Amino acid sequence: MIELNNITKIYNPKKHNRFAALNGVSLEIADGEFCAVVGKSGSGKSTLLHIIGMLDTFSGGKYFFNNQDVSKIPENAAAKIRAREIGFVKQDFALIEDYSTIDNVMLPLYPIKASNKKKKAMEALEKMNITHLANKETKTLSGGEKQRVAIARAIVNEPSIILADEPTGALDSKTAADIMSVFKKLNDEGKTVIIVTHDLGIANQCKRIIEISDGEIVSK
Ligand code: ADP
Ligand code: MG
Repeated sequence: MIELNNITKIYNPKKHNRFAALNGVSLEIADGEFCAVVGKSGSGKSTLLHIIGMLDTFSGGKYFFNNQDVSKIPENAAAKIRAREIGFVKQDFALIEDYSTIDNVMLPLYPIKASNKKKKAMEALEKMNITHLANKETKTLSGGEKQRVAIARAIVNEPSIILADEPTGALDSKTAADIMSVFKKLNDEGKTVIIVTHDLGIANQCKRIIEISDGEIVSK
């Protein structure tokens, strides 16, 4: 359960280039929801997603993650929550191009014993139907394949929440539809899925649309 109360985010608060990216965002997202966050470029979508994923701090307001006050969680505990509960699919895949598929997918598993790592990574590849790509170098893959690898890496820890920033932005429409079916399946399995997109066609495939404009929620 994600609960944001009046969250603000100010970049560069004490400098001339101070910028308020989120202006009091209040939002609840229950377990198992399938949401799109839509809005124009620069409206604050990525900022919001990074805060939800505990990848960035916020300037004001309260964020409760599974009833825990996020501002009171020490960084080492937050890192554990991120690793266990949250899978993040970053914009433009954010894969290491010189690594093989399996090595990219094993990255979030660094604290685990090596033999188990490979097994868990192969299971994630299996769920994404890409076991045949395990030993291929990432830079040789197509966009759709890279996105499947990025999603495999996000789910390898079996998180309860998947956050994806513009996951179809770099894909053609057929491949985008294919990737959306992957998110639908993950949601059908009970995972909370939150997708940032500026594509209304993609957003309409989600069960809920949250619209943000100039750092404010305009519909939810
Ligand atoms: P979106 O994902 O909707 O395009 P972002 O959340 O990336 O929007 O950015 C919202 C606003 O905050 C934009 O105007 C952007 O320029 C600004 N911004 C984002 N990151 C930073 C940063 N690190 N420093 C200063 N301004 C930033
Ligand atoms: Mg963005």
